[in-house]
Amino acid sequence: MALLVQKFGGTSVGSVERIQAVAQRIAASREQGHDLVIVVSAMGHTTDELTALARALCPEPPQREMDMLLATGEQVSIALLAMALHSIGVPAVSMTGPQVGIVTESAHGRARILEVRTERLRKRLEEGQVVVVAGFQGTSSGSAGTPEITTLGRGGSDTSAVALAAALGADACEIYTDVPGVLTTDPRQVSDAQLMEEVSCNEMLELASLGAAVLHPRAVEIARNYGVPPVGRPRRSDAPRPRLTSGMPPPIG
Ligand code: ASP
Ligand code: MG
Repeated sequence: MALLVQKFGGTSVGSVERIQAVAQRIAASREQGHDLVIVVSAMGHTTDELTALARALCPEPPQREMDMLLATGEQVSIALLAMALHSIGVPAVSMTGPQVGIVTESAHGRARILEVRTERLRKRLEEGQVVVVAGFQGTSSGSAGTPEITTLGRGGSDTSAVALAAALGADACEIYTDVPGVLTTDPRQVSDAQLMEEVSCNEMLELASLGAAVLHPRAVEIARNYGVPPVGRPRRSDAPRPRLTSGMPPPIG
């Protein structure tokens, strides 16, 4: 039994069917006895679509309002995934970045995480709930005023996952990448082609040192600084190593 942080990107939660598939996967992990914190991104291209809407109305939207807008994308995903889990009998609760205690700098649109206050999260885990957390968002501390919703920069859900894993002392942080073709999958372990290879924190650091654009750079930075523990499950030695392929998207974040 372990405490796992699992992150699912926008493609993984991009439709009803995919959310159901993610829920099934979470249920399977839970049946193995793990405590689970799930971090999700906004569905599909939601963040891009919201950005386009903003630009259609205002060429240079205020960053505060952009954060108000973009944070809604992840909020949709967490509520829907929690509902999908409920419908298959898995007790789950969704939490926004502010609710989960991700405290950031006040710089809108590119806020760095300062602290993760885990009490509320731990309490839910102790109750046996799966906690579904909105990635990419937090709250400024409010020490210099009112707390505000902040976002961590594009691709920032990875950072949320790694920061939560570090703060909780999780046994593993598993990032299920959105980007098909970036990592090899093991067809013996992964039957659904949409389901990407799991990446352990060790592998993340390895990929980062290769200059991979797989992960949000701050996720890697936090993993380094806090020494996020490597994945608890050893990889099979005959399993293919994650590797970069051509056709990589340009770096994000
Ligand atoms: N939804 C945000 C983005 O598209 C954060 C993320 O996906 O990690 O950049
Ligand atoms: Mg991403």
